[in-house]
Amino acid sequence: MTEEMNKRLILEQQTVIERLCSSHRNGRIGHAYMFDGERGTGKEAVAIFFAQLLLCSNPENSVPCETCPSCRRVSSSNHPNVTLIVPDGQDIKKEQMSKLVYSMTKKGYESGRKIYIISRADRMNVAAANTLLKFLEEPEGDVTAILLTDSYQSILPTIQSRCQRVSFLPPSREMMIDRLVEKGITPSMAATVSMVTANVDEAFRLAGDDQFAQMRKTVLKLVEASDRHVHEALLFIQSEWVPLFKEKEEAESGLDLLLYAYRDVVASKADLQSTAAFPDQHELFKGLSMKMTYSRLSANMEAILQAKKQLHGNMNRTLLMEQLVLSMQEGLLVV
Ligand SMILES: [Zn+2]
Repeated sequence: MTEEMNKRLILEQQTVIERLCSSHRNGRIGHAYMFDGERGTGKEAVAIFFAQLLLCSNPENSVPCETCPSCRRVSSSNHPNVTLIVPDGQDIKKEQMSKLVYSMTKKGYESGRKIYIISRADRMNVAAANTLLKFLEEPEGDVTAILLTDSYQSILPTIQSRCQRVSFLPPSREMMIDRLVEKGITPSMAATVSMVTANVDEAFRLAGDDQFAQMRKTVLKLVEASDRHVHEALLFIQSEWVPLFKEKEEAESGLDLLLYAYRDVVASKADLQSTAAFPDQHELFKGLSMKMTYSRLSANMEAILQAKKQLHGNMNRTLLMEQLVLSMQEGLLVV
């Protein structure tokens, strides 16, 4: 991860940062923290930031200076007082924990606090968790544990109860779009995938996925086709929609995207300044919004939601889509 991205992640977690900095300011550093939050919320970046703060030789206002030798060694993973544990294969094993406990208790360290960061702490196997638990029960000296997890409920309750829980919220949609664009995704694709998922990694993967790009295109074509002759729209369903959205999950994603498209049409009609799911389709949606009343638009959206429900009732998917198109066609006013 680049330094720039780390900075951004830290900026996005101001509440968490403020809490950690104030515990430093008040001299109340905990023995163990549990950072929990989805992947991509910056837990690792904040853990490094916190380790820097705890070891910095010249913190200003409880913020690490980032220039002293100590800060630099933490950020380049070269500080002897900071140990990072990651799963060895599938899980974190007992031997890893025994080694960790030994190194945290032995002498010969540089002065100052010792910190260990356990990434994916939910992957500790039972023996490893029990070894850690014993250590957490009898904290020795200036040692701080930072456990990271995206699955808090998978952590043993006995370990949960010994850690201060620090929750990382996912970034806002606007922040997420900025981050995706920074990673080279087009603003229009970033806007769409950020509607589909709140997980930045997953959004990034989707944005680069050819099938998803094809789905996006096909959904927009359906919105356009619904504006034309009914036969054309039905033909489109058979020739393009059904072959692409084969699996139930895909069909569901397709209907979700269709719903977001009509949401955009409504926003466009109302001149709302909300962030569109398909900002590149402004012209098309504006044109549609002039042909449709609010009540028809909401009837269309209801029809899409209804179709989603029927999808789970295992209704024939071609039939389901044909019905949907027919009911949406009813909604167009003749102008
Ligand atoms: Zn420093």
